[in-house]
Amino acid sequence: MKVVVVGSGTAGAEFLRHYKGEVTVVSPTKYLFCQALFPSYVAGKIEEDELKVDLQPFFEHRGIIFRKCKVEFVKQKCKTLFSKVKTVRGIGYDICIIAIGGTNGVYVEGVEKTLSINDFESAKIARKRIEKAKDVVVVGSGMSGVEVAYEISDFCNVTLIEAEKRVLPNMCEKASKYVKKLLENAGVDILTSCKVEKISDTIMTSCGEIEFDEVLWCTGIVGKRLAGLKYGKYGILVNSSLKAGENIFVIGDAAEVKSKNGIATKTALEAERQAKFVAKAIKKDIKNLEYKPFSTIENPFSIITLGNRAILVRGNTVISGDIVHKLKNYVVRRFLKNFEV
Ligand SMILES: Cc1cc2nc3c(=O)[nH]c(=O)nc-3n(C[C@H](O)[C@H](O)[C@H](O)COP(=O)(O)OP(=O)(O)OC[C@H]3O[C@@H](n4cnc5c(N)ncnc54)[C@H](O)[C@@H]3O)c2cc1C
Repeated sequence: MKVVVVGSGTAGAEFLRHYKGEVTVVSPTKYLFCQALFPSYVAGKIEEDELKVDLQPFFEHRGIIFRKCKVEFVKQKCKTLFSKVKTVRGIGYDICIIAIGGTNGVYVEGVEKTLSINDFESAKIARKRIEKAKDVVVVGSGMSGVEVAYEISDFCNVTLIEAEKRVLPNMCEKASKYVKKLLENAGVDILTSCKVEKISDTIMTSCGEIEFDEVLWCTGIVGKRLAGLKYGKYGILVNSSLKAGENIFVIGDAAEVKSKNGIATKTALEAERQAKFVAKAIKKDIKNLEYKPFSTIENPFSIITLGNRAILVRGNTVISGDIVHKLKNYVVRRFLKNFEV
């Protein structure tokens, strides 16, 4: 049984941790990055080696074969993955797990001029360019937008633009007010109910023209596309067993996973649960056993870190204090430590 995992980020690596059996992993990198630390990294507060782990020892320890390349398309009929790398063209599979992550979800003219922190290479570029910038505009005030705006406000002028009426629009008002106050105290200019329409030499918005040295695009994530698989509004379409086709599972940010209230959140927590589910589902599929469909977390919690403050938000409950900051540090450290051998 040839099991092939595409992508070695949170979801792919977590699958490898839970699945015991012969596996090949195909990915452009053998490093696992903790994206939750990208805002601090971009602000120069932590270094590269503090937010990544080399998966090579883990692969060797578990007998996992690693093939360094980017998969370009899937041919389901012949159960083969294709890449542009000549030496690894055509990787056959019996079962395939796609875990290729996400990308920016909102498009406006000129967005290609902006910086992003969705993957490490982009975060590295963002760090270098923001270091030299005076006026930085952060577009989008979700979790990563507010965190990065706060972190970089130590050394540059930051304007935070949000299309909705308040920052953190997907969280409760209490969280929104708490974060807004901290951002304002840090000197961040907040523009809400303001839509970015176009980016050229300036940013054209529904509330006027804004000058900038750099723009950081933090407008939310949709799954990456992969030719050969059907795509919905937010990612590759999967059924209730997280399957996108016969013997193909899609997990993590790449997938459009239905939940009771809409679509599953694109978080590490969700990616980890999906990975664990698929590791078990494969074993049951092999034995022809039935299993329950995947269910998303009903009421997930998030921890937002702003400098040395952190808040935990779950529904309408907001908890702040040292303990939350310590919890976040613990979660992040444990995430990387899980793969140390
Ligand atoms: C700035 C930021 C802060 C965040 N903070 C939090 C947080 O505090 N808490 C939380 O729960 N979540 C947080 N998240 C979200 C969380 O990091 C993601 O939901 C999670 O990493 C998704 O895992 P993934 O495996 O789907 O994608 P990724 O971890 O992005 O991994 C994708 C992998 O696929 C590889 N790949 C891509 N394309 C291909 C291809 N074509 N072929 C082969 N391999 C490919 C990539 O190299 C990578 O190894 C944050 C995200 C960001 C960007």
